[in-house]
Amino acid sequence: MCGIIGYKGKKHPKDILINGLKNLEYRGYDSAGVALKNDDTIQIIKSVGKISHLEEKLNNEKLIDCNLGIAHTRWATHGEPNESNAHPHRVGKITLVHNGIIENAGVLREQLQKEGVKFNSNTDTEVAAAIINKYYTGDMEKALNKAIKEIKGSYALAILCEDDDKLYAIRCESPLILGVGKDEYFVTSDIGAILKYTRDYVLLGENEIVVIDNKGYKITKDNKVVKREVLTSKLTNEATDLCGYDHYMMKEIMEEPVLVDNLANKYIHNLKKLPDIKKYQHIHIIGCGSAYYAGMVGKNLFEDAGVEVEIDVASEYRYRNIIYKPNTLVILISQSGETADTIAAMRKANEHADTLAIVNVDASTIARECTYKVLIEAGREVAVATTKAYLLQVLILSLLAYRLDPDGTYVEDLKKLPQQLKVLLDKTGFYKKLADAIYKHEDVFFIGRKVDYAISMEGSLKLKEVSYIHSDAYQAGELKHGTISLIKDGTIVFAIATDDDIRDKTISNLEEVISRGAYPIYVGNEDVAYDHKIIVPRINKKLQPILVVPALQMIAYFVALKRGCDIDKPKNLAKSVTVE
Ligand code: GLU
Repeated sequence: MCGIIGYKGKKHPKDILINGLKNLEYRGYDSAGVALKNDDTIQIIKSVGKISHLEEKLNNEKLIDCNLGIAHTRWATHGEPNESNAHPHRVGKITLVHNGIIENAGVLREQLQKEGVKFNSNTDTEVAAAIINKYYTGDMEKALNKAIKEIKGSYALAILCEDDDKLYAIRCESPLILGVGKDEYFVTSDIGAILKYTRDYVLLGENEIVVIDNKGYKITKDNKVVKREVLTSKLTNEATDLCGYDHYMMKEIMEEPVLVDNLANKYIHNLKKLPDIKKYQHIHIIGCGSAYYAGMVGKNLFEDAGVEVEIDVASEYRYRNIIYKPNTLVILISQSGETADTIAAMRKANEHADTLAIVNVDASTIARECTYKVLIEAGREVAVATTKAYLLQVLILSLLAYRLDPDGTYVEDLKKLPQQLKVLLDKTGFYKKLADAIYKHEDVFFIGRKVDYAISMEGSLKLKEVSYIHSDAYQAGELKHGTISLIKDGTIVFAIATDDDIRDKTISNLEEVISRGAYPIYVGNEDVAYDHKIIVPRINKKLQPILVVPALQMIAYFVALKRGCDIDKPKNLAKSVTVE
C-alpha cells in the first residue's frame, strides 16, 4: 500500500510533495517522509504518524533550495512504524521510497551484510536501496536494470542518486504513473496526488525504468526505449474537496443517490453496453473485503437468475486448485483495480476463462488486463472505508442480473431508487439515536439469510472498520450452532430480513436471541412489532440491498463519531491494498 510521489520541475517541491502525500494518505498513514535534493545535498526529513506531523516538521526546518524531491506515506509491512523504518531510505549514493514488498529481502540482507553493508532499519525497502547502490558504478540505468533482475516481489520505487539531479522510478506489480506537466514531471502511486498540477499522465508497464532530467523523460525496458501514449484523466481536483462535510465518509455516502442515478441512466435503456454474460454457464466472483461482500450480493442475484456461481476471496482463490469448467466467466471486483490479491486471482483466471473487471479506476491493472471491464463511475473515494464504491459495485451486479433475467418491475423501481435513497439518507437524526444506543457496546452481531446475509456482512464490516467495535455477521440459521453462547443481556443483534421468502425464518432466529437477552434491531421492508427497527421501502428484489446498506453505513458513521474515532482513516487500514 503506501503512497509515493516524486517531483522534478522548476518549483521548490515542498508544497507539491506535501499536497500529494495528503491526497495519498488514504493508502497508509503510519509514518511519512521526504527527501529533497540539490547539487550538494540530500536532505531527508521523516516523522511518525499523520502527514500533518511531517508538514509541521518541514515548516520548522530550514529546507535546502532545490526543485527535485521524493516523498512517501507508509503502511508498514516490514518493521514497526517508527522513524527509522519510515521512508525515504538512503544507502550510499541511493535514496528511495518504496511501495510493495521485496519478497527476497531476508536472503539479500544476509548477503549484503556479509559484504559489509550496515542497515539502519528493519525494512525490506532498505535492502532494495542497498542492491541498487551495490550495482551503481556511475550509470544508474545499468544499476537499475541489474537490480530489477535481483529483487523479487512487488515494488514501485522513486529514486534519487547523489551524483546527478535526475528523478528515477521503476515498478513491478505495484502501481506507479508518470505525471506530465508544463516543464515539470511527477511519479506517483495515484493520479489524485497530482491533479492540482496536471491531468496528463503516462501508464508505466512492468519492469520499466523512467528517467526524468531537465530536458524531459525517457522510459526504457531491457535497455530499449518504450514509447507510451500521454493520457488525460477525467478526474478533477474538486473531487477531493470535503464540500462542507466533516468527513469524506459522510460526503461519499451523501453522493450515493446521484451516482446511482447516473450509473442507472447510463445502462438501463442500453443494457447492451454491459458485457453479454448470458453466454456463460458458470460464474466465479472474486474480491476482497467489501468488494467480496458486494460479490456475495451478486452471487445471490445470479443464482436466482439460474446461473451457477462460485465465490471466493482473492487471497484464497489465487492459491486454490480451481477446476475451470468450459464457459466460465470470472468477475473480479476491486475499487482501485490495483488490489494485489485480486490482480493475482485475475492473472490466474485469465489463463483459463474470460474475465470481467468491475472497477472504479479506468487505467488500473485489473481494468486493463480483463477481457471485459465495467466502470462503477464513483469518482474519487477518499474515506478508507468504502461506501459509494461498494454500492455502485452492487448496482452493476444488479444490472447484470437483470440482463440475465429481465423482470417486470425492475426498470420502474430503478428509476425510483435514487429518490428513495435520498429519503433514507435524510433521516440522520434517526441514525444518530440508534448510534446512541450502540456506541458503548463492545459486541454487535448481524444476522440474515441469503442476500440478507451478504448485506449483514457489509454492515458488520463497516461498523468494525470505523468504530472498532467487535462485530460479526452470521447466516441467521447458523448462530445457534455455537455463537449463540456469546449472546447475553443487552447484546445488540441486527436482523436483516428483506427477503419475503425467508423473512419469517430470520425473525424466528431473532426471537431465539431475544429469549437470551439480546437487544434486537430489525431491518426490513415489512413493518414488525419491534421497538428498534429500520424500515426501508419495498423494491424489486434485485435492487433491495441498495436500499438497505446505506442505512447501515450511516449507523457505522455515527457510532464511530460518538466514539471519537478517526473516521476517514481508521487505524491499521489502508484503502488500496497493493500488498499480499
Ligand atoms: N515494505 C515497505 C515497508 O514496510 C513498504 C510498505 C508499503 O508499501 O506501504 O516499509
